[in-house]
Amino acid sequence: MQHLRRRHLIAALAASFLATTPAAAETLYIEAGRLIDGVSNDVRTGQCITVADEHIKAVGPCGKAPDGARIVDWSGYTVLPGLIDLHTHLADLGQSADLAAPMKASPAETALVGARNARVTLETGFTSVRDVGTYRGLTDVTLRNAIDRGDVHGPRMWVAGAYLTIPKGGGELNGVVPNEELPADMRLGVAATPDEAAAKTAYLLDHGADFIKTIATGAVLAIGTEPGAPELTPEQLAAIVKVAHARGKKVTAHAHGAIGIRNAILAGVDSIEHASLADETTLQLAKKHGTWLAMDIYNGDYIEDIGTKEGWPEEYLRKNRETTDAQRAAFKRAVELGVNIGYATDAGVYPHGLNARQFRYMVKYGMTPMQAIRSATGCAAEEMGRGDVGAIEPGRYADIIAVKADPLADISALEKVDHVMKGGALVR
Ligand SMILES: [Zn+2]
Repeated sequence: MQHLRRRHLIAALAASFLATTPAAAETLYIEAGRLIDGVSNDVRTGQCITVADEHIKAVGPCGKAPDGARIVDWSGYTVLPGLIDLHTHLADLGQSADLAAPMKASPAETALVGARNARVTLETGFTSVRDVGTYRGLTDVTLRNAIDRGDVHGPRMWVAGAYLTIPKGGGELNGVVPNEELPADMRLGVAATPDEAAAKTAYLLDHGADFIKTIATGAVLAIGTEPGAPELTPEQLAAIVKVAHARGKKVTAHAHGAIGIRNAILAGVDSIEHASLADETTLQLAKKHGTWLAMDIYNGDYIEDIGTKEGWPEEYLRKNRETTDAQRAAFKRAVELGVNIGYATDAGVYPHGLNARQFRYMVKYGMTPMQAIRSATGCAAEEMGRGDVGAIEPGRYADIIAVKADPLADISALEKVDHVMKGGALVR
């Protein structure tokens, strides 16, 4: 099957482009049928992209290709920046009815499952992800490093290391064994006091985390916690933010309920995950502080459908029902208010590789197709504080995708990306 797909692609490209992954020195000249750059609302035609040394060197009207450049004919495609998902869990087993699964799997097995998840994610057009937590602490660091070395195919990863959570909170694997008996690497981010929270933050950053993920309220998918209830205290959140920001690292907060969201924003976090029960005042506060919202408005349908069929805990299904429609309403209002929104799906709750399904929901709940695209390209890069991805412009990594159908006419076109390039190397 792999063999057939290879042959098909080679034929489609009318060149043995895939057989030889471009060497770093090779220059590419990509002819883009329609170009969406990820940072403007323009759709340009007749544009060519020059790529060398993994980066975009030039973008402009097509003319003579640089000497020795390999031509990539994407004149029949819409060409966009590689997509970015700001809320994934690659280095984990994925949600299932077996609550003990994350504990039964060794760190090594978890990392190898993560390698598979990373490959699938990249192949579907997501060339960067922010990975917002793993039960097996630091397996995400291992996976990111393997991808960076080129040992594993996957998106660029920005990892949290572990969940910063109160004991028995939304970031713990509750309901399997007494939490005190969980393996030590499953409790790297558990903190009962502000001092502990500060120390754990420093530990995770010392061990390779790129940013910090805090759990500011209970979670839908954690036994014994309630999405509406605050968890990490304002003092704990402030202690975490102080340590992380002093090192130039960002902090994001899982928060469903309005009080927890407010606590996190006032503590100075950079972004809020979920924001399901955000009310008008909270959304206005996010707008005022420039806090980003990462709202996973697709996966509620998946949980209801598959969770019910597979027999996930009734508590999970109940909490999912209590947050899904509310979150979509809050998203719609956030779009109206012009709050910063980055593309964030919670892949891992649903199978990796379906990340693009959420685009349809974001358009249904108020975004234009271009806004939805920018949430997963230029805006997502901005939320991550990265100027090296998320746009087709000189200086950025040559992370580029091509789709035959027009995503501005039908945003679901992004669910079937035809070609994916990461750092100038063709993935598919
Ligand atoms: Zn998540």
